[in-house]
Amino acid sequence: MYEGVNASDGIGIGVARVAVEPDLTFTPKAGTDATEEKKRYESARSKFVEMTNKQIESMQSRGLVAEAGIMAAHIEFAEDDGMIEAINADIEAGKQAEQAVKDTYDMYYDMFSAMEDELFRERAADIADVRTGLLADLLGQELVDLSTLPENSIVVVRELTPSMTADIDKENVAAIVTETGGRTSHAAIICRALEIPAVLSVENATSIIEGGSLCIVDGTNGTVQVAPDDDTLTEYREKAKKLAEEKAALEAFRGVPTKTADGIEKLLVANIGNPSDAEGAAEHDAEGVGLFRSEFLFMDATELPSEDEQFAAYQKVALRMKGQPVIIRTLDVGGDKEIPYMDLPKEENPFLGYRAIRYCLNNPEEYKVQLRALLRASAFGDIKIMVPLVTCIDEIRKVKALVEECKKELDERGVDYNPNIEVGTMVETPAASLIADILAAECDFFSIGTNDLIGYTMCADRGQDKVAYLYNPYQPAVLRSLQRIIAEGNKAGIMVGMCGEAAADPLFIPVLIGFGLGEFSVSAPSILKARRIISLWTKEEADALVDKIMQFQTDAEVKAALQAAAK
Ligand code: PEP
Ligand code: MG
Repeated sequence: MYEGVNASDGIGIGVARVAVEPDLTFTPKAGTDATEEKKRYESARSKFVEMTNKQIESMQSRGLVAEAGIMAAHIEFAEDDGMIEAINADIEAGKQAEQAVKDTYDMYYDMFSAMEDELFRERAADIADVRTGLLADLLGQELVDLSTLPENSIVVVRELTPSMTADIDKENVAAIVTETGGRTSHAAIICRALEIPAVLSVENATSIIEGGSLCIVDGTNGTVQVAPDDDTLTEYREKAKKLAEEKAALEAFRGVPTKTADGIEKLLVANIGNPSDAEGAAEHDAEGVGLFRSEFLFMDATELPSEDEQFAAYQKVALRMKGQPVIIRTLDVGGDKEIPYMDLPKEENPFLGYRAIRYCLNNPEEYKVQLRALLRASAFGDIKIMVPLVTCIDEIRKVKALVEECKKELDERGVDYNPNIEVGTMVETPAASLIADILAAECDFFSIGTNDLIGYTMCADRGQDKVAYLYNPYQPAVLRSLQRIIAEGNKAGIMVGMCGEAAADPLFIPVLIGFGLGEFSVSAPSILKARRIISLWTKEEADALVDKIMQFQTDAEVKAALQAAAK
């Protein structure tokens, strides 16, 4: 059994198809004709752009909007002025086109790979993809083609690039195995969007898995088994059947209101990272968007997105959600979210430093660009503004004052917006929890960010394996904090939601019902599952469970009690 990163849930059983990559080695030539080499480079570039545009069209026609967005980023890299200039300068200095392309793309690849932020490091894969496309054309090589696979194929590739997936026929691919990529890589995002089970970063997968061998890929647990024995095969076939039945049964929860067993309505919305994700949210039957992480717009750019660019992105989500609530979090930069071109100072303790709303309030003109874009988009749907990393009431007051300034500026420009746009707090710091009563008096809503709240409450870095045992929502300290936030919000009569991962935890959902949470914001594929769990509990049962677990002193006792009570 081989292990890797469990990047996309589900079980795939099928025959390994190991993708052979093109041979992109070449012997450097000296004394090349610069004019001729530039022409070759230009031709490779335009063919690459043409081919990528076709792939984008094909993806769009299959509803793969997010994936098409990733491919569009390839065109941006291929047509990046800085890269083109560097390559042409190298050619003029005597390099052949292949060498100039390789050297420049290698340099950018190294630069992105060395970045601290995982999301940026993952962009290196896109650069490598464009480099492969250009070099393959210059060297007259064919690229890996996954468009003509037989039924039940297990695709095994060194690296799954977005362009490779352009023509993947979901029906024929049972699972995907790669040698590279983490849970936030584009490969992972695409596999999850296509709902193809995937295990990434299996060491030497393309050499240890022989083409034609029968494989079992368990994307939920991150394992790959080659040539399994009959008993294992039967066991996994059963598991796959059960999963398929469970998924089919969830369809009963599509198109119905989200209610507890005793009829208390809850709002069940989705977390999204970019505007095209709104499509997936709607397809999975979300009742709105509970968290749009706007920093993705900034991360996907090479400079601060303009008011018009931001407006277009927010408007797209507002229109797609057709009047349903859309909570957009303003720029949450810093900590685990690095945006290189913003050049924030390096800090010893970035999680306690100059980040999120602290940065924004220190750069009010920059922040107002985003606030104006949000206000303009509010004319097209129920957009709400959410402020990240709040620790004191002054921050909320300052944001509200800036919103008022922006409204006046839009009035002067004669631009429409929702004058009653709501402003809420992302409650994700112990300080915000402790002053929840003060914040609730001046906010329109709360959304609890457990991902950070757990980390800051337990002083345990959310990405650090060694302290992972402390990082969970079952910790009594976290439970008390959540209970307090929800109670204070409810007392003030404002909506209290949760957009951290805990909102989708099946064990934790009854606790949140007991605490009185009103809105659950989860990833799009978790919507129906969460609706089902909510429907299984009455408030009375959830209250009894809360009374019980609040007596415990350790997270282990709490978790055990929740497991025993799970329906
Ligand atoms: C959170 O902190 O819980 C949250 C939802 O935001 P992020 O994971 O983007 O920090
Ligand atoms: Mg957070």
